[in-house]
Amino acid sequence: MEHFDAAIIGLGPAGAALARKLSGKMRVIALDKKRQCGNEGFTKPCGGLLAPDAQRSFIRDGITLPVDVIANPQIFSVKTVDVQASLTRNYQRSYVNINRHAFDLWMKSLIPDDVRVYHDTLCRKIWREEDVWHVAFRADGVEQRVTARYLIGADGANSMVRRYLYPDHSIRKYVALQQWFAEQHPVPFYSCIFDNDITDCYSWSISKDGYFIFGGAYPMKDGQARFDALKARLEAFHFQFGKPMKSEKCTVLFPSRWADFVCGRENAFLIGEAAGFISASSLEGISYALDSADILSPILTGAPENANGAYRKATRALRIKLYGKIIKSRMLTSAWSRKWIMKSGVAHIPQPERLG
Ligand SMILES: Cc1cc2nc3c(=O)[nH]c(=O)nc-3n(C[C@H](O)[C@H](O)[C@H](O)COP(=O)(O)OP(=O)(O)OC[C@H]3O[C@@H](n4cnc5c(N)ncnc54)[C@H](O)[C@@H]3O)c2cc1C
Repeated sequence: MEHFDAAIIGLGPAGAALARKLSGKMRVIALDKKRQCGNEGFTKPCGGLLAPDAQRSFIRDGITLPVDVIANPQIFSVKTVDVQASLTRNYQRSYVNINRHAFDLWMKSLIPDDVRVYHDTLCRKIWREEDVWHVAFRADGVEQRVTARYLIGADGANSMVRRYLYPDHSIRKYVALQQWFAEQHPVPFYSCIFDNDITDCYSWSISKDGYFIFGGAYPMKDGQARFDALKARLEAFHFQFGKPMKSEKCTVLFPSRWADFVCGRENAFLIGEAAGFISASSLEGISYALDSADILSPILTGAPENANGAYRKATRALRIKLYGKIIKSRMLTSAWSRKWIMKSGVAHIPQPERLG
C-alpha cells in the first residue's frame, strides 16, 4: 500500500488550490469526483460569481483568469428585491461572472504533475488506524487503498471527512435549486430576492452566456414547491422564465453559530465549505475555499508538533469574518430590518424605468 504525506479529498476551489500549493514540497494524492475535462459527469451547481475576496486570492498567487473561464456579460450591480415589501433596489457589486465548471477544471489543470491526481474518482471510505489515515477509493475500475499522514477534507457541503470527524455535529442546511432558461430579458442582470414566506434564506438570478439562471436556498422540505411558487410571484417583478433547459440541485451549508466552523482533528483538516466556510449572508464560498487552502498549506509543509492547533489558530480571523456574515444574514433575512435598510435608499443606484 502506497503512503503519502497528504491525501486531499475533493478538488473544488479549496482542494485544487491546496494541491497546487503543496506540490514540490510533499508527496500528495488527490481524489476528485469530477472528470478531468468536458461537461459530462459531476458538475457543481453554482452561481459562478467571483467575489472581490476571491479575486484578491488570485492576486496573491500571481494568477490571472483565462478568458474561456469568464462568462458573458460582466454585470456591475445586483437588483435586490423584497417581494413582500414590494421594493427593488440596485447595489453596485464587483463580481466576475464565470463559467463555474470551466473554472473548476481550470483550477485542477493548474495542479503540477508531481501531485497524483485521480479524476472521476469517488472516495468511498476513510478511517484512522495506527496513527495514519487510510483512504479507500475506486479508480480505473479497481478498488484501491492508500495511507497518508495528513488527510484533508475539501469535499464540499456533504463532506464525508466532516461527517467522519464530527459524527454528532449538525449544521443548518438548505436545498439549493437552480434552473437554467434561455435569456429573454432585454438587459441581462443579477438579482437577489428575499421572500420570507418562501424561505428564511434567499434566492438569486444570474444572466450568463445567453442563459438566465434562477436559483435559491430553501428548507429541505417542500423545496421544489417553494421554488415554483417564487417563480410565479416574480412575474409581477418582470422576471421572465419560459421552459427550463436544465435543473440542478445540491445541499448548501448555512453556518448559523460559531461552533458551525470546524477545522479538523488528529492530523485531518477541513478546508472550504467542508469546514463550514461559506458566507451566511451571500452563500459566497469560493473566496473562503481559496483562503483556507492558503492558510493550511504552510502549516502542512512546516509540519509543526500540533498542526491542528496551528490551523485552528490561523483560521481564527477567517472564522471571525464569517461570523460577521452570520450577523449580517440575520439583518438581511429579517423582514423588518431589511425593509428599513432598503427604504433608506443608502447605496441604491436608480436605473432607467425599462430596467426596472
Ligand atoms: C447553488 C449555489 C450557488 C452558489 N453560488 C456561488 C457564487 O456565485 N459564488 C461563490 O463564491 N460561491 C457560491 N456558492 C458556494 C460555493 O459553490 C462553495 O462554497 C464552493 O464551491 C466551496 O468550494 P469547495 O472547494 O470547498 O467545495 P466544492 O466546490 O463543493 O468542491 C468539492 C469537490 O469535492 C469533490 N468530492 C466531493 N465528495 C467527494 C468524494 N467522496 N470523493 C471524491 N471527490 C469528492 C467534488 O468533485 C466537488 O467538486 C454557491 C453554492 C451553491 C449551492
